[in-house]
Amino acid sequence: MEDTLRSGLLSVVLPSYNEEASIPRAADTITAILIDADIPHELVFVDDGSRDRTWTVIQEQAGRHPQVRGVRFSRNFGKEAAIFAGLAQARGDCTLVMDCDLQHPPEKAVEMYRLWQEGYQVVEGVKASRGKENPLHTFAAKSFYSIISRATGIDMSRASDFKLLDRRAVDTLLAMREKNAFFRALSSWIGFQTTQVEFEVQPRLEGESKWSIRSLVRYAITNITSFSAAPLQLVTLLGVVVFLCSVVLGIHSLWQWASGNALEGFTTIILLQLFIGSILMICLGIIGYYIAKIYEEIKDRPRYIVAERCEGDRDEGTAKK
Ligand code: UDP
Ligand code: MG
Repeated sequence: MEDTLRSGLLSVVLPSYNEEASIPRAADTITAILIDADIPHELVFVDDGSRDRTWTVIQEQAGRHPQVRGVRFSRNFGKEAAIFAGLAQARGDCTLVMDCDLQHPPEKAVEMYRLWQEGYQVVEGVKASRGKENPLHTFAAKSFYSIISRATGIDMSRASDFKLLDRRAVDTLLAMREKNAFFRALSSWIGFQTTQVEFEVQPRLEGESKWSIRSLVRYAITNITSFSAAPLQLVTLLGVVVFLCSVVLGIHSLWQWASGNALEGFTTIILLQLFIGSILMICLGIIGYYIAKIYEEIKDRPRYIVAERCEGDRDEGTAKK
């Protein structure tokens, strides 16, 4: 069976935002594991417009490890953009995306690569558990993933960005022109021969999580609206509900009029005005959001802007700009 296994270069894509403390450990650990397992590899660090010394550290690593490369964005474009930039840079026959804070255990890379060798084109890392979170966060995440799961038709409840993709899957993703590409969902949506590997989310050793409540809410809204028209359908549903209520109230008012109590109901009118007014505002907001998205896509701006690159020099072992 040995000779039926394919082999090839593994690219590891590491989105990095203010990760000066994590990068040396990531480069050393991942390189050591892959050399040990005899897997040909390259590491692609994407500096997502960090404000700390991340870029200098990446250049230093490229000087130390010939197989390390780096791309630096002109500003912070977000993790999704960083992942896509890494995929575009990757030269491998397969590409693994992982966090550079090592919360995605690098030992799993070997197992995932072996599955790729057996013929799988998408190897998904799924979270064995969601780690430590407060109940509100868990509830919000659950609601978010159930909407996304319904929109994609794929169970996303334990999905992560820790994924290994075959060249063909990478090229398919890169060919998609949408600006708000949601990697985690799109890489499942494309199909292909897929398998899963469970992993435990590791504690963060260095630095801190880049997510604030505000950025999480924005992340959820962006990804829900880029994957599903459900909020627009909700608007229609709201319209129907309000219409049914107004029929009931209409009948009630007619009844009042017929029985000679017509003037009563001033409060009802004020409340109805407020209620309908606010619902209309919300609906307009949702529709406006989708129009803004169409506008964004039509402008056709790039997903990210690369300011600099660096590459480990295989001959001299020094970083080249
Ligand atoms: N990240 C990024 N751009 C951002 C935010 C995060 O490239 O705007 C990277 C970050 O450096 C890390 C990964 O995305 O490698 C996951 O981020 P983080 O650890 O902050 O998220 P968490 O693990 O807490 O979900
Ligand atoms: Mg993390």
